[in-house]
Amino acid sequence: MQVLSLGEILAARRRMAGIAAVDTPLVPSPFLSASAGTEVLLKLELVQPTGAFKLRGAANAIQQLPEETPGVTCCSTGNHGRAVAYAAARRGMRAVVCMSQLVPEAKIEGIRALGAEIRIVGKSQDDAQAESSRLANEEGLSEIAPFDALPVIAGQGTIGVELMTERSDLETVLIPLSGGGLAGGIGFALKRIKPNIRVIGITMERGAAMHAALRAGRPVEVTEVESLADSLGGGIGLANRHSFGLCRDCLDDVVLVTEEEIYRAMQAHYYEDRIVCEGASAVGAAALMSGKLAGLKGPVASIITGRNVDMAAFTAIVCGRDVRLGDNFIKGVSYGS
Ligand SMILES: *Cc1c(COP(=O)(O)O)cnc(C)c1O
Repeated sequence: MQVLSLGEILAARRRMAGIAAVDTPLVPSPFLSASAGTEVLLKLELVQPTGAFKLRGAANAIQQLPEETPGVTCCSTGNHGRAVAYAAARRGMRAVVCMSQLVPEAKIEGIRALGAEIRIVGKSQDDAQAESSRLANEEGLSEIAPFDALPVIAGQGTIGVELMTERSDLETVLIPLSGGGLAGGIGFALKRIKPNIRVIGITMERGAAMHAALRAGRPVEVTEVESLADSLGGGIGLANRHSFGLCRDCLDDVVLVTEEEIYRAMQAHYYEDRIVCEGASAVGAAALMSGKLAGLKGPVASIITGRNVDMAAFTAIVCGRDVRLGDNFIKGVSYGS
């Protein structure tokens, strides 16, 4: 695939059927609707078998590999690693997920349980990345990128097609933003189908790599900070090829939310919507609840991207306790106060 097209996104939908969940539920949120003053719907990607939307892109990429491919590799310890492990196992293909020695045992076990081989190398994400590239170059494994690859972006874009099928009257779509594979793919599909729809990327205030890149007009280095939205961390790659340009062309705006706003939004999703989700999934609600989307036109859809949250941290948040993430301290506040 040389360029992204609506046709590629529709083909991705057919390829992933039976592996990823398609036509995931789009459900009303009475609480967020009242808070925003317009209808708000939640697109529940947390029902994916791996707990997050990344299975769409990984399944689309892996299903397209030639039969003789000796296997796949990646270096994500989060939702992308889980997706690659699961999609490769479903195709009966070998998957090697590279990680550094610093990755907690629970994450390692989670990915191993999905059928992947785990390779522990070095003390940093860079060491893990180097091993993944070595496996690709020397052993012929196919490296599956987390966001900056067209088959992955086309896979995530299937969410945009579903939104337009489910509710063609949507006026605004809120998309959690990190490397931009999700926002780039959905934004592309939405704008092709309904050019005047508003597409807003939402991310955390500190360490927002795509936001910094869009302002600078090119990918820039950002310092990573620990966040409740841990799935939104990391850079976009200084040699970014696809997701930066797509986000530049398809996003109408990028809105930043604070850790306190994410904390309160996770509580609201839990107590009001009865949803257990990651911090990364709650950024849309955080933006709505903090009034940062003034003049918003509804109906609005917010993508609930995943549910793979650390349950100890999650319990602390819904109980209103303090949370400490590295040097990032978030003061507890009980829900409704
Ligand atoms: C990866 C991820 C995102 C962001 O997707 P990008 O394509 O990197 O922008 C959002 N939410 C969750 C739960 C994720 O795993």
